[in-house]
Amino acid sequence: MNSTLSLNMEKTEQEMEEEIELINNMFPDSNFSVAIDIDELDDLITNKQFIIVKNTYNCYCYDNCKKNATYYYIRGTSITNRYVIEQLIKQGLNLECNHVFLEGFDKCPDSDCQYIICTGS
Ligand SMILES: [Zn+2]
Repeated sequence: MNSTLSLNMEKTEQEMEEEIELINNMFPDSNFSVAIDIDELDDLITNKQFIIVKNTYNCYCYDNCKKNATYYYIRGTSITNRYVIEQLIKQGLNLECNHVFLEGFDKCPDSDCQYIICTGS
């Protein structure tokens, strides 16, 4: 096998598991699982110093019992994925339906400072 090629190959299952383990150890107090690529944890979400993060509960789990969105207010000088996750843990975010994996934050189309939590199962 060509070793330069393998650098560009996708991660193996073992590498993925090690990464998940590593991320879980970074956020031991979370009531959810972080499914953001480890290389992206320190990526800036925004240059702003204040954002609102919304949990919209719009997955199928809440089809039969609609739940109002919850809002988390995040202030900081460097708003990275890691920082937002830490603040969400402090503010008590709990993903308790089938979608316990936090996959990222999507900017709301109509606002520069509002983000929606993306979850997966
Ligand atoms: Zn769900």
